[in-house]
Amino acid sequence: MPSMIDLHSHSVVSDGLLTPAELVAYASSKGVRVLALTDHDDVAGLPEAQAAADEHELTLIHGVEISVTWRRRTLHIVGLKVDPQSPPLVQGLQQIRNGRHIRAQGMAESLARAGIEGSLEGAYAYAKQGIISRTHFAQYLVEKGHASDIRSVFKKYLVKGKPGYFEYNWASLEEAMGWIIDSGGIPVLAHPGRYDLGRTNMLLLLEEFRALGGVAIEVVTSSHTTEQFRQFALLAHQFGLKASAGSDYHGPVHSYIDMGRLPELPAGCVPVWKDWPEAVV
Ligand code: AMP
Ligand code: MN
Ligand code: MN
Ligand code: MN
Repeated sequence: MPSMIDLHSHSVVSDGLLTPAELVAYASSKGVRVLALTDHDDVAGLPEAQAAADEHELTLIHGVEISVTWRRRTLHIVGLKVDPQSPPLVQGLQQIRNGRHIRAQGMAESLARAGIEGSLEGAYAYAKQGIISRTHFAQYLVEKGHASDIRSVFKKYLVKGKPGYFEYNWASLEEAMGWIIDSGGIPVLAHPGRYDLGRTNMLLLLEEFRALGGVAIEVVTSSHTTEQFRQFALLAHQFGLKASAGSDYHGPVHSYIDMGRLPELPAGCVPVWKDWPEAVV
């Protein structure tokens, strides 16, 4: 039976395709009862999402997905139940968004050197409401026929060693965790299976994450295989961490899994929502 709880999703405020209100309406139509909006490095979509959630009698969890650089790798830390007005969080996210503009210029220059012109304006045309991200560059590259779809763009461009890649330092793990915790939120390590860390570094990361106040890791998420559900359920248990579940929905076409289709957590996991009154269904 699919789960009615989805704790990771995106709107047009970051790199999703639906407005916050459309996203909430869509989630509700698919049977989701508890939804976290977790836009990259921005909380600007939460008021609109909250209004739509009230209308649809859906519980909205106020979230954010923060970009972090850890040992020269990019990680994503999801904050759940954050206070979007908490000053350190607001200031920290603003700083990341400023950096995104600088990075976008670097990405565009790199693409120009590879003969692809106009990508800065092209990407911003897709980033209508909020942050500028690689997804918006990917959309422009597809538009111009450099790849057939978003997934194949990331094989040829925008990743280490390829045109459009620009080394950038996000927040530190310590900063991001601090902003979330200071705002009363719950830090969750997003999609750990995507980091390609190797066993030793993954254990090191989990140790550090826990030491900094980390609460849960995403066990069930659309970029994990069934084998990874099992693997990260085991690691969560081993580290005394709770388990989260989120589709990481970015909108039709851009998503690996549809809303409302998320499998249940493996047996033995302690759900991050275990003591949440709103998650009693
Ligand atoms: P950014 O935060 O600007 O580096 O953009 C990262 C976003 O790009 C992720 O949140 C995904 O939505 C998207 N992305 C990254 N890698 C891929 C991929 N291989 N296929 C599709 N989308 C990707
Ligand atoms: Mn994204
Ligand atoms: Mn992510
Ligand atoms: Mn995400």
